[in-house]
Amino acid sequence: MERELETLFEAQKIETMIMEGEQKLLQAPKKLRQMEDQLTEVRDKIEKEKEIVEELEKERRKKEKELEGEKEKIKKLEVKLYDVKTNKEYQALLKEIESAKEANDRTEEDVLVLMDKVEDLKKDYETSQVELKRLEKESEIERAEIEKETRSMDEVIAKLTTERDNLLSIVSENLRTTYNILREKRGGIAVTNVRNGVCLGCNMNIPPQLFIEVTKNKQLIQCPSCNRILFFREDD
Ligand SMILES: [Zn+2]
Repeated sequence: MERELETLFEAQKIETMIMEGEQKLLQAPKKLRQMEDQLTEVRDKIEKEKEIVEELEKERRKKEKELEGEKEKIKKLEVKLYDVKTNKEYQALLKEIESAKEANDRTEEDVLVLMDKVEDLKKDYETSQVELKRLEKESEIERAEIEKETRSMDEVIAKLTTERDNLLSIVSENLRTTYNILREKRGGIAVTNVRNGVCLGCNMNIPPQLFIEVTKNKQLIQCPSCNRILFFREDD
């Protein structure tokens, strides 16, 4: 019996490794999705920054065009100064020219402010692009690693599964059935060690007399609380 229990214990160890591997396999698509989301976020940010820059550039061009038109108008008004007949007309024209020039000064000021803004935003935009490039490169490397890991994990799991099945094939059918049922019902853990009178599967105390029996590994003993098969190994 001791030999069979030990075999089950070893099969359980492999079982646990298989579960860990499967857990890792489940994590892989999640990780890939997270990476993709992060990239999308940065790309969206860049797109927004680009739109704002374009909007401001458009506004700047519009103002510059306005400015050109106004300057042209002022030139014409200045030419007109030579043709006016009365002082009153002359003064009125001068006033018109003056206020047009003042308006132009304000527009020029606006253009400068816009140019400053655009320059700052372009810097942000370039920084974001560098960030995106870096992220893309990192993601590429990580994706390749995850895919490689997944492939080798598949192989490892297949190998472990064969090992486990080989071990299970050499125990009695009764034990194998008990093992399989418990594995299904107890989250993949059918066999568990005991330490200091405590079942390591459910952390419940085992009656002292039963614990002594368990440490002998001479018979099939199941935890009174979780039903798992108990096996005693001091250093494991
Ligand atoms: Zn238990």
